[in-house]
Amino acid sequence: MAKDSQTQQPHKDDFHQLVEGHPEGIVLHREGKILYANGQAHLIFGVDREKGVQGTPLTTFFPPDSWQRIEQSIESDSSEAAYSGWPAEMTCIRFDEKELHLETITTKINLTSGPALSTVFKDISQRKQSEKRIRHQANYDHLTGLPNRTLFRDRLTQELIRATRQNSRVALMFIDLDRFKWVNDTLGHGAGDQLLKEVSQRLQESLRKSDTVARIGGDEFTAILPDMARGPHAERVAGSVLTALATPFILEGQEAFISGSVGITVFPDDAEDMEALLKNADIAMYRAKNEGRNAFRFYTPDMHDEAQERMALEKDLHRALERQELVIHYQPIINLQTKTVVGAESFLRWEHPTRGSIPPTTFIPLAEEIGLISDITEWTIRTACSQAQGWREQKKVVTDFMISVNLSCTRCRDLSTDERISQILRESGLPPSALVLEITENILSEDENRAMSMLRHLVKLGVNLWLDDFGTGYSSLSVLKKLPVNGIKIDRAFVPDVTKDPETTVLVEAIMSLAKSLKRRVIGEGVEREDQAEFLLHHGCLWGQGFLYSRAVTHQEFEVFLQTDRVNRQQEEG
Ligand code: C2E
Ligand code: CA
Ligand code: CA
Repeated sequence: MAKDSQTQQPHKDDFHQLVEGHPEGIVLHREGKILYANGQAHLIFGVDREKGVQGTPLTTFFPPDSWQRIEQSIESDSSEAAYSGWPAEMTCIRFDEKELHLETITTKINLTSGPALSTVFKDISQRKQSEKRIRHQANYDHLTGLPNRTLFRDRLTQELIRATRQNSRVALMFIDLDRFKWVNDTLGHGAGDQLLKEVSQRLQESLRKSDTVARIGGDEFTAILPDMARGPHAERVAGSVLTALATPFILEGQEAFISGSVGITVFPDDAEDMEALLKNADIAMYRAKNEGRNAFRFYTPDMHDEAQERMALEKDLHRALERQELVIHYQPIINLQTKTVVGAESFLRWEHPTRGSIPPTTFIPLAEEIGLISDITEWTIRTACSQAQGWREQKKVVTDFMISVNLSCTRCRDLSTDERISQILRESGLPPSALVLEITENILSEDENRAMSMLRHLVKLGVNLWLDDFGTGYSSLSVLKKLPVNGIKIDRAFVPDVTKDPETTVLVEAIMSLAKSLKRRVIGEGVEREDQAEFLLHHGCLWGQGFLYSRAVTHQEFEVFLQTDRVNRQQEEG
């Protein structure tokens, strides 16, 4: 008997139990009205089982179009789907107005009262939520909440399609912060993050709602401006972006001046495909940065050629050191009274295999930008030091002969704070007092505290510091008091005129007397005529250099020059 009851067919009422207690919602409906809903369906709809939903239109819980779509496909489709059902995902608005996501499957059913539909569903809101979160993470920058590179590219693709269809224009803007690295380095990453958040806020405020602002890299932002005409509109937007960034930021309780550089390109005027547009905007942004920052530039075709050229040069510069294409030329520094050589300044030359000699004014800024300047400077100091020590040991020069090397300001920080310079001096055997490093007042322009501590470090090593290009900067006189330099080079722009132009004469005289009272040595640059040398000497400038004596020449030529100098010296002594 017990065995019988275990295998006996379920009773008709048992099926009701099965449906009623099923963990998925089940609803029977006809012509959009609910005939029956099981326990779980009531839970999902948020309606009391007692109260019931029989006779209630489906549209009470579902947006009307979601059912229309299913009914239409059922009508038009009589094939196998009749057995496997019609699946869908739809939103359900519960009785308490809360929104749920349901996964549904609807099948036809023949009830005793006639044909109807049965829909089985389950609540997938949680899964949807986490899918949404993942999608968000894949498309948005977690720090600023702005669209990331992926979403930016999607949106740009969409906007370009739309603009093509509507025959309209899209402006694409690249925005790069000018001093982000400085903030990160000096105020820390916390301040860097804070800055990026604030920047994204300000960018959004200076653009329209329909524009997309994205963060596509560390401190790189982009903006897509649909329906944008070239000229005044884009210009105005770029202007307001710059203004927004130029307002000081408060970071770590400190006012920080950041500013940005903006490059703009317009579709379809400048390019018709996305990759080309991206490149254009980047090139234009780069131009804005190069031309003094805190500026915007529209892309123009000639920028493209220039960028191409620059990239080629950049690639070559990376290999210049190992291929031994860099050489040093030496210009003698002369005692104006005795006309003998007291030292030499070293100037870099790049002997490019196909382009010929490239001047330092072209490749040094490039080297700074692409991070090669430290290596190049280290090489220059090492080569110049060992060359100078060679001349000293061979008695080709006076015993206290000095060699001077130009130091690029800010990017050389690491080189001057670690032990590399003292190591180079040890290796070459050159006493620190025979090395001069020439700096310019720009060294103070980014981070004064750091620059000062670097200079003090160099002074401690016992090397000489000379202030180059003196007189060209803005704050020269005050800077001179502050910097721990023991020499000043009067910029060559002043020297040609000293004997002709009374104003320059007064200025040079003032520099001389200031230098004297501060006990700094003065070196005159760009001496081309005898009268200039005399003027300088007369005002207390004992040392000078310039074409009057020699151009910067190769080390072999310099040695030839030294031979005549030797004759001078001997005459002097004799
Ligand atoms: P600077 O240090 O002010 O160098 C003086 C420039 O004037 C040199 O040009 C030099 O050859 C030139 N010069 C020398 N005497 C006269 C003269 O009597 N009349 C005229 N008109 N010019 C004269 P150069 O070699 O082209 O260097 C230009 C700049 O490039 C230098 O200015 C310096 O700032 C930078 N530079 C050169 N070599 C190096 C280097 O090894 N490292 C770094 N960081 N910068 C360098
Ligand atoms: Ca110099
Ligand atoms: Ca100079």
